[in-house]
Amino acid sequence: MFRLNPANVQVNIPDDIPGFLKPRKPIGIREHSWLARMAAAKLGTERVAIVIGHTIHLSGISSDDFLQNKAWFRHELCHVKQYEANGLVPFIVRYLWESLRNGYWQNRFEVEARKAETGEV
Ligand SMILES: [Zn+2]
Repeated sequence: MFRLNPANVQVNIPDDIPGFLKPRKPIGIREHSWLARMAAAKLGTERVAIVIGHTIHLSGISSDDFLQNKAWFRHELCHVKQYEANGLVPFIVRYLWESLRNGYWQNRFEVEARKAETGEV
């Protein structure tokens, strides 16, 4: 079995993050994540963030730089909230189903996360 590495950076949610994006449980970041690195290779990009439960897995970017990118951070926080709303395994199944049916861009979870980058969902 593949094993995900645990978070190596604890994240404090800043006060300017709106309430609807605040997770119920503490979240962390895993830098240099093999999962994110594989996704980056598949997507053909350098910088990737992938959320699994309450951990944001990063590749190609430091946690400091990621956290300074407010829109990106809000996007991934929205995915954390989606995990909280759906449950870990159900969310992954629904997310993959959405991607198969609608593609990445029209995946309803991605549509919602893109809205969260700048405004309310
Ligand atoms: Zn996303």
